Amino acid sequence: MQDKCGIVGAYSKNKSHNISREIYYGLYALQHRGQESAGISAHNGSEMRTYRGMGLVCDVFNNGNLIGLDGNVGIGHVRYSTTGKSQIQNSQPFIGKFDLGTIAIAHNGDIINSMELRQKLEKEGIIFQSSTDSEVICHMLTREYSQTQNMVESIKKVSKKLIGSYSLALLVNDDLMVVRDPIGIKPLALGQREGTTIVASETVAFDVVGAEYVRDVEPGEILVINDEINSFKIPQNPGTSKAHCMFEYVYFARPDSILDGRIVYNVRLNIGHALYREHPVDADVVMPVPDSAITAAIGYSRASGISYGEGLIKNRYIGRTFIMPTQEERETSVKLKMNPIKSELEGKRIVLVDDSIVRGTTSKALVNVLRDTGVEEIHLRIGSPPIISPCYYGIAMATRKELIASDKEVEKIRQTIGVDSLGYLSTKSLVECIGIKKNELCLGCITGEYPTQLPSDIDEYESCKC
Ligand code: AMP
Repeated sequence: MQDKCGIVGAYSKNKSHNISREIYYGLYALQHRGQESAGISAHNGSEMRTYRGMGLVCDVFNNGNLIGLDGNVGIGHVRYSTTGKSQIQNSQPFIGKFDLGTIAIAHNGDIINSMELRQKLEKEGIIFQSSTDSEVICHMLTREYSQTQNMVESIKKVSKKLIGSYSLALLVNDDLMVVRDPIGIKPLALGQREGTTIVASETVAFDVVGAEYVRDVEPGEILVINDEINSFKIPQNPGTSKAHCMFEYVYFARPDSILDGRIVYNVRLNIGHALYREHPVDADVVMPVPDSAITAAIGYSRASGISYGEGLIKNRYIGRTFIMPTQEERETSVKLKMNPIKSELEGKRIVLVDDSIVRGTTSKALVNVLRDTGVEEIHLRIGSPPIISPCYYGIAMATRKELIASDKEVEKIRQTIGVDSLGYLSTKSLVECIGIKKNELCLGCITGEYPTQLPSDIDEYESCKC
């Protein structure tokens, strides 16, 4: 199961405060990270209650079920799995009952060795309710905790066995804990408001409830949050480096978020400037593929002096096209999603900016749509380097053979997509635009070099999942 999700955890010092409402607003702000299901678990000092449902945050929650989720401490989750079963059993928080109480777990990431770990647990008699790797983590944690009666030590022990990415919010009875994997692939930040502590995948979840961004949870850090915040460190192998996902900056995160201290909006503006420096062109107008490339297109326009315009209007009530199972449906859905404004395009030489090319489906379909409007020239500029290798850490992309750049040079891609020129951002510029050292970023999808071990049969395993 590949999950690109959003998580929130919150604690209020005021025991009679119902924290679910803040968690709900936080999840609302993280809706772009998952549209498939949403859930909240809260603890009121005597019991834990959970409500989960399929669909958007606004469809799942209402005043009635939020009032039922009373308690001053809780966690929440929005889920987006690209493939596999979209069913309620796989929604989160995942709940486990065990001899020491109840645990709820909200996970963003992908555990690469989860199959192996799951088979081991099954052999030992564990029965699984879902097909998520989050349930694997849950069983591993509760088993350790039953023996050690110390959750922080249990997390440290379990972490040693997990390979992959994980930002976790845990509710262990009424204790809130968060964990970020030792290389920090997925984001996780800490925020505060008078008497309330919030953790979330992205800082936009703080803005909506009036909390201040304090700092990021460090890679390999465990926070235990109650009236105080206590920090613990997962022991790491010497030489372990951070590996923040570059794709969060390029595409996934909201531009108004701060990730590992960097404002995503500024990174995307930098990307637009750098794209112009690397691939200048004479044209009449710069246009984005909305919405994810808007900021980079503004950057390109500012750097080049070519005016910015809108040529494609997005229907914002359609979900992400990636989740369509067949190529034909993906192509149709591009037309459903974007409509051209003929009067803005006819006879023009345009610079079209997108954040990435994965399969090439979007670009190809858009080029056909644009050509039909009578556009004169299309110069496609991409705010990331060619994606040549799959992501194994939870950014659902495609299998290797579906990636257009896995076996094609730029010129061949240009011909396949049918544009007059094509320019990708270089890896060197991307790293500079983000402002994090190259060896502290995960660039696996553009270099084929990954920050963790990979099982030898990983491609086979990935293609069964997709
Ligand atoms: P493709 O059509 O396969 O080349 O996908 C590229 C388009 O999808 C770009 O416009 C991106 O903004 C968007 N995109 C890139 N990665 C993802 C992803 N993991 N999930 C959904 N959309 C994506």
